[in-house]
Amino acid sequence: MKVADMRPYRKVLEQLRSRLRGDVNTMADVALGTNTDEPSGHSSTMPVHMADIGSDAFEQEFTLTLMENEEDTLQSVEEALARIRQKTFGTCVECEGIITKKRLEALPYAPTCIRCAERLEQNQSFQPRLPR
Ligand SMILES: [Zn+2]
Repeated sequence: MKVADMRPYRKVLEQLRSRLRGDVNTMADVALGTNTDEPSGHSSTMPVHMADIGSDAFEQEFTLTLMENEEDTLQSVEEALARIRQKTFGTCVECEGIITKKRLEALPYAPTCIRCAERLEQNQSFQPRLPR
């Protein structure tokens, strides 16, 4: 891909990165119970439903799982930005083939072409699940 063609993707990726960074921080605060020192129900600035977030164990776990996924995405975004710096963006990291623009528009941080993505996904299904 030409360097000039990478620019719009870099912009999208940088926006995505800052949004993900912000989201991760916000959710970490909520999930870990930061800023809850005030007596509940007596905060005038905080909406009522915000005070309930984190009190439910299941909800807390769900938020942390979501945060983990966002960190995975953030990692992919960082790697995509590194590929732009190295001018290899748009090239499949597996087969060095071209990643189609259609795929990059849907998933700007995609590291592989659609063929390799499908192949990797199939290989993954033969591997044992990670222990919990
Ligand atoms: Zn490939």
